[in-house]
Order: sequence, then C-alpha cells, then structure tokens
Amino acid sequence: MAYTANPFSIICPENSGPFLFTAEHASNHLPCSYSESDQQFLQTHWAFDIGIAPLMKHLCTALSCRGVQTEFSRLWIDANRSPAQEGLIKTEIQGTPLSFNQNLSPTAREDRKNNFHARYHNTISDIITSHATPPMLISMHSFTPIWNNRLREMDIGVLFDRDEDIAHALASILQDDGFFVALNQPYSGKNGLIYAADRHGTENNIPYVEFEFNQSIICSAERIAAVANRMIQAFQKFLHKYAHLISQ
Ligand SMILES: [Zn+2]
Repeated sequence: MAYTANPFSIICPENSGPFLFTAEHASNHLPCSYSESDQQFLQTHWAFDIGIAPLMKHLCTALSCRGVQTEFSRLWIDANRSPAQEGLIKTEIQGTPLSFNQNLSPTAREDRKNNFHARYHNTISDIITSHATPPMLISMHSFTPIWNNRLREMDIGVLFDRDEDIAHALASILQDDGFFVALNQPYSGKNGLIYAADRHGTENNIPYVEFEFNQSIICSAERIAAVANRMIQAFQKFLHKYAHLISQ
C-alpha cells in the first residue's frame, strides 16, 4: 500500500543545538479508515502522548535544538518498541478490538514496519550523524495520571539506563524548581522500554534519557507553555552546571 503522508516531522530543522528531542507517540493520526468503536480511543493516551508535540516545539524553539516526531498513532505501530517486540501492533484495548489491526497479513505488518517505524528511526539516525557535535538524546513522552484505578502523583519521570548521573542531575534541577520528580518511574528505563532513546543512544554512543510528563500538568496550551518555560530553564541550568557529563 502506498502512503502519501510523511510518517514523521522534523521540528526546527535549521537548528543543531546540544539536544535532539524525539517524540515516538506525538500523533494520534491513523493513515487508514477506522470504525466507530476505534474512535473512543483516538483522543486518549491509548492513541498518543497528550501534550507532547506542543511541549517539544516550545523546547526546540527556545533551546535552538531539533526535534523529530511521529505523524502516526502508536496504535498503528509503536515507534517506541523494538520491531521484534510483542505489542508492536496492538490488536485490542481492554477487550475492545481495534478494527484496523485485525487479521493483518505478514505483508501488511512488514509494510508498517518499513514505511513508518523504520523511516522514523532512519530519520533520527541521519540527524544524529549530521550533527558536527553529537547531540544528547531526549525522548519525550507523557503518561495518564490514573492507571489501573491508581493515581500517579509524580509530575515528571526521568527514565534512564546507563546514564544514571545525567538522570540524577536533571532530576535534582527539576526538583529544586518544585516539580515532583521520580527516577525510572512510571516504569524503568532498564527493561528495554525506552526503545528509541536506548537504540540511538547505544548505536551512536551518545547520552540519552527519556522524559515522561504527567498529562495533568500539560493538558492545556497555558499549562504546556508554563511547563515548557520551567523545562527550558532546567535544561539551561543543566548545560551550565553539568556540561562535563555529556561531553564526549
Ligand atoms: Zn509515549
């Protein structure tokens, strides 16, 4: 099947600052027709990371950095999972089947892997190699404040695997600013669940973390702008105080 829409967008392509922001779940777009029963999920966290695309745009602009984001829903294919991983293409949500993912042929699965997942990740690889000084990778995500009937109280999760010092430095700056920050929460970065950051960070031997923002703090344009301003200051402080942690 041929798709005309681009599976990714590059944010502030003219910039080449010290961070490369990525957003694997930026969009709720489905490049296919879908049923009424699918529709209930499309404005929810099941389909995309609410608030992340506008937040990333603020950060890229103010910090003179580039960003790459998906232009397809995680329900179409999940760009933050390995192509080999279970759940790459979900067939149902809590018992409700997703009509567009039923009985996919091997060719249809390969098509999504090649035209969406691979093209998105190849773009990230190309951007990293185009940087004169390799960037630090920051994968941007958001999480739903209520999961399995439990309230997740933290504002921001900083997820890391090998870059523990960097994660602690960023977390302490954000905590000093009054955010409720947790390390490797709501899930651990050590379980292969921060696929995008892990893959490109490891392949290029550059530092990487994943940020998870509570959707309750970025649920309106005003809140996103306010969080963005605090994040911009935090990243500037990080560069000022901890540049040695990311220099090669
Ligand atoms: Zn996400």
